[in-house]
Amino acid sequence: MNVRLFMLSLIAFGLGFAAAGSRAQNRPRPQRAPIPDDAPPLPENTTECNYQTPVDFLVRENFLPRWTQPPEEQRRRRGLQAQAVEWRTQHYGYFEGFGNRRDNENTPMENSSRVEFMDLSVRLNNQIHPALACVEQQIRAECGDDDYTPVRLSGLRTRNTYHNGQVSNHVYGIAIDIDPQLNTCCMCVAQWGDHPLCQNPVESIYERMAMPPCWVHVFERFGFYWLGRDRLQDTMHFEFLGDPAHILKSAGPAPHMAAQAGEGSAVETGETGEAETEATETDATETGEAADSEAVEPAATEGDSEAATETAEPATEETQTPATAEEESATEEAATEETTEAPEEESAPESSGCSVAFPGL
Ligand SMILES: [Zn+2]
Repeated sequence: MNVRLFMLSLIAFGLGFAAAGSRAQNRPRPQRAPIPDDAPPLPENTTECNYQTPVDFLVRENFLPRWTQPPEEQRRRRGLQAQAVEWRTQHYGYFEGFGNRRDNENTPMENSSRVEFMDLSVRLNNQIHPALACVEQQIRAECGDDDYTPVRLSGLRTRNTYHNGQVSNHVYGIAIDIDPQLNTCCMCVAQWGDHPLCQNPVESIYERMAMPPCWVHVFERFGFYWLGRDRLQDTMHFEFLGDPAHILKSAGPAPHMAAQAGEGSAVETGETGEAETEATETDATETGEAADSEAVEPAATEGDSEAATETAEPATEETQTPATAEEESATEEAATEETTEAPEEESAPESSGCSVAFPGL
């Protein structure tokens, strides 16, 4: 068999495998849900934390190269991506295989500890604990009318399940998933795509999650980026992309906020507004988007396959949810046993009562 024939066979096999895995029930790919631009005006800030928007280059949508982009734009974005890794290493810890160990002598795990959030325990990087406390304080003050009590959280993970050259913010302990069994990630993986909440046409992404929109608005004020705005529409996931050195008012405003202050109201809507625009591109480009989201990643040389792209995402991260400190070691052990080749199901923690949850990012 000559090389070309061999390669064609490989591609054909890959396509068939991916298609079989992702469209097991022959349901159509879900439509991306519109994301309302409905954040209320910023209330008076009575917390100890600064309001801040994400640092621009840390937002996934801003640094991920797309294969449809000109080469120079892809190069620029790869530079931003490296910059984002360096930032996360310096602030949160060195994660094996990404960035430079000289930038931080500790791992994110060593820089993390368990923290209470809405009466649940979750392990997160120590740096962002104050921001989460302010989020909780404000949720309790402002979102009380929404009867929502989360039952499970997922924070730091010890294994990066991305296998496309990216590194998850969960490994740095700066991402938190809220009720992964209830708040969907419709564009992530096949399992979610087949979920009734993802199949139904909706007028707003909020119809695809249990969490009140008020929670989204509050998280976003304190430097958390909601991955519901990303093209993957991962509604369970918030990641702290603000400046950890300027979470507290006592540390003064973050430099990137000072820069934005000079631009007027951009302070309030800034990056999240841009990301939203990109994430709500028309359906006509959906297939291309889905493919291009991973196509230029190093490991995804078969990036012209939408199905292959889809199966690349599920392995990106498992949704591990240690409910107690005691469960944590067992969960991490389980994580190391998982393959990166197939969508992963989670065994629910004892306390949640849920049998299955789907992976998010
Ligand atoms: Zn997540």
